[in-house]
Amino acid sequence: MNKPLAPRAADTETSDADRARRTQAGPHAGARSEPARLEWLGGPTVILQHGGVRILTDPMLGPRSADAFVLPKHPSTGAENAHIARYTATPHPSLPGLHAVIVSHPHADHVDAVARATLAKDLPVVIPPTGAEGMRAAGFQDVRPLDWGDSIAISANGTTLRITAVAAHHAHDPVLDRALGKGNGYILSFEGVGGDYRAYWTGDAVLTDELRLVAAALAPIDLMLADLGGVGGDGNIGLRSMTAEEAVTLTRLVNPRVVVPIHHTSFSHYREPIEALVQRAEEAGLASLFKFPIEGVATFL
Ligand SMILES: [Zn+2]
Ligand SMILES: [Zn+2]
Repeated sequence: MNKPLAPRAADTETSDADRARRTQAGPHAGARSEPARLEWLGGPTVILQHGGVRILTDPMLGPRSADAFVLPKHPSTGAENAHIARYTATPHPSLPGLHAVIVSHPHADHVDAVARATLAKDLPVVIPPTGAEGMRAAGFQDVRPLDWGDSIAISANGTTLRITAVAAHHAHDPVLDRALGKGNGYILSFEGVGGDYRAYWTGDAVLTDELRLVAAALAPIDLMLADLGGVGGDGNIGLRSMTAEEAVTLTRLVNPRVVVPIHHTSFSHYREPIEALVQRAEEAGLASLFKFPIEGVATFL
């Protein structure tokens, strides 16, 4: 079920005039598109709904804890079996009504034990091939492995969501990147009830040359969900999640209508405070594009 990643020809223009038009009238001239409902649940976890389809990303559903999960190696210090804290209370969202769970990669800070135990086992789980077996072992019956360039569609309530996996390198250093395993970013294209809406979720990626190529071909994008945090940026093992500087560069390449940073603040392995992004976006003259939802509070974007 491969789908070419090339954008539709009519949608490739990314001039300022085009951005202004999209900002005022939505991405598709003539089509009135409803905003998406987004609820950030902390870390990489988001409930995103457009039209009749509601999805959950990278489910981290455990409570606030000094010992939320264990990483085999601390990304900053290299200490083995590193216990990572969750600083913020986990919102209690209305999880019923989900149509899919989408996982960027199966690391412990992207799918936790509570999610594995409590999510409905008949929910479709979209995940890189490297994570499929682990989700099946946890009891999920409808696991749909997706490799870079592959796509699938999920339909409900008059809306079809096409999910396309794209490259998401976890580290600049090729040895570390291989060691961390192959993860996915995703293009999420909603069509049908509510109009057309396109989101791009980076997954746990740093800004590589390959990601620049992906980004340049994405337009038009309504919402960019960007995993931040600068994880590992303060240690000698190496950076393994995006920095504010990279996020601002990526924003220029993708040219989205709105950017929502996730994968920051909630857990103790994140290193770069989100204030760094606020400041960098202001310096770049892009502050108006960035939205910073409060955990557990739904926003419409
Ligand atoms: Zn990871
Ligand atoms: Zn992560």
